[in-house]
Amino acid sequence: MSQVREIKCPKCGKWTLWAGDIDDRCLYCDSFLESRRFSREVEKKIRGEVQKENDYFFIKPTDGPFKRLCKKTLGVLRWWVIGLQIAFFVFVTIIIVLISLIPG
Ligand SMILES: [Zn+2]
Repeated sequence: MSQVREIKCPKCGKWTLWAGDIDDRCLYCDSFLESRRFSREVEKKIRGEVQKENDYFFIKPTDGPFKRLCKKTLGVLRWWVIGLQIAFFVFVTIIIVLISLIPG
């Protein structure tokens, strides 16, 4: 896939080798050859982080103490619901296994 090409460095203007990778650097000035694509990758990564922060239960530093408590309680509650579902599933599985073990 990667084809080494000769391209002009956007920073120093010298001809250098470029394999088409994001992190390819100029042989002369050591700057990224595809700085725009590289920054886009970084941007994508940052946007992913922001999305994580937009999670409803994520506590932001700007939240007041009451909001913090609410979010914390709801967050814990959510985990409890998930935990209960798992516990219920395990319970039902055990019951089924016990029923099948009863000689009848
Ligand atoms: Zn250069």
